[in-house]
This record gives sequence, C-alpha cells and structure tokens, in this order.
Amino acid sequence: MSRTFAILPAAGLGTRMGAESPKQLRLLNGVPLVVFTLRRLLASADIAECLVATRGDELDSLADRIRQERFNRPVRVVRGGDSRQESVGNALEQVPPDGDLILVHDAVRPLVTHELVTRVIAEARACRAAILGIPAMDTVKEVKRASLPNDVALITATLPRERVVLAQTPQVFDAALLREAFARARADGVTASDEAGLVERLGHDVHVVLGSERNLKVTRPGDLELAEFYLAEERAAEDRRSGAAKG
Ligand code: C5P
Repeated sequence: MSRTFAILPAAGLGTRMGAESPKQLRLLNGVPLVVFTLRRLLASADIAECLVATRGDELDSLADRIRQERFNRPVRVVRGGDSRQESVGNALEQVPPDGDLILVHDAVRPLVTHELVTRVIAEARACRAAILGIPAMDTVKEVKRASLPNDVALITATLPRERVVLAQTPQVFDAALLREAFARARADGVTASDEAGLVERLGHDVHVVLGSERNLKVTRPGDLELAEFYLAEERAAEDRRSGAAKG
C-alpha cells in the first residue's frame, strides 16, 4: 500500500474575494474553508498525512483550530510563501522521504469528493502524474496585451475547444518526480500556476482525469454562495438516499 501525503496551499491573500479575511478562512456551513477541505480529503483512507501551508501570522491560530478537529491522521501547519508555488515548495521540503505519492489540493476547493480523490490517486499510481480537469464550455482565446486600453486585449489564436481542459486539483505525483520538477523550476527561475505545469516542463506525461464543476475554487464574490448551494444539494441527495434505505 503506497503512502500519499497531501499538501494544501492555504497562504493566499484572497484579494479577488473583496473580503476582509483571506478566502481560505471564510466560513462554509460555519467551518473555515481550509478545515472543511481537510475534512473532505481525510475522508479518503489513501491520505497518510496532511501539510497545510499558511501565512506566518495565521500559523498558530490555524494549528489550534485544526487540533480541535482531532483528525485521526497527522496534520501539520507550515509557513507558506509569496506565491502558490513557493507555498507548495515549502511544504514539499517537510514531506518525509518515505512518501510515495504527493497530492496537492487547493485549500479553497472544499467540495472535492472521496470519489474524485480516489480516481486521481489511482491514475497517478499507474502513470506517476495525474490531475483533475473539466472541459471548457466557453471558447478559449489566446491573447496578448498589445498597446490597448487596460480592459482590451488582442486575440492571437483560438484554441480548439476539444483540446482544452480547465485544470483543477487534486494534482497527484510520484514524490521523486514532483521533487525533481520543483528543483528544476527553482534552478531555471520558472514559476507556474499549478504543479502539473512544472512536471510537464520535465517532458513527463501528465494525465487528466475528469473532474467536476462542483469541485469549484472559491475565488470570487458569489463562489461561496454557489458552494453553499451545491452543499445543500449534496445533503438533500444524502437524505433521499438514507430515506429510501430506511423505507
Ligand atoms: O491564488 P490562487 O487562487 O491560485 O490560490 C489557490 C490556492 O493557493 C489557495 O488555496 C491559496 O490559499 C493558495 N496560495 C498559497 N500561497 C500563496 C498564494 C496562494 O498557498 N502565496
């Protein structure tokens, strides 16, 4: 049985939310998003241990809050960095050498399901690198900024929609492969917006497993309300199932 270590980057400022508190600490059903997300991830028996990367001024308070959960596996809170990549990199340095797979999941994707986690881990076990992704519903354009007003860009290409997926997390990698990708990125001074981007640059295949619209990233105002709506729907479906089982 392989050991999967989970890293949750949770050190963002959340400025796009337009809220006072960082988005990973906003409440979903009365629970800080990062704690909600941890509960979901730890529902998977595959996860051996979690590392949460957070801002320096939240280290102690978040560690206290997580302790209250009494998770049955270790959850460590570590200092994040100025970018998501730096936050994941800091946590990666603390992953014990015996981890076989490393799963990275945004602290602000609270509605990840046990089934999605299981599927992406299984794929990574088979091919060393797998992420979740969903098809793009909109047509995606490549643009450049050109010398146009701030809110206008120039289209340089139209990406065929069937060749585009929108990357989600969890993203799961063989531990040695992810370490190599981070070392190479550091040496080359490269930054990517997800871990797959760093693994792709090594020339290694990364598989995309079908994710879900519901595995949304709480980023903009309104996303939290949408997450609450999805959660209410999940609960109603559970109630119907347990009602049917009893009846
Ligand atoms: O910034 P973005 O929306 O891509 O954030 C995705 C995740 O990365 C969030 O959970 C956020 O808290 C985290 N992050 C981080 N360190 C940063 C910036 C973002 O851990 N410096």
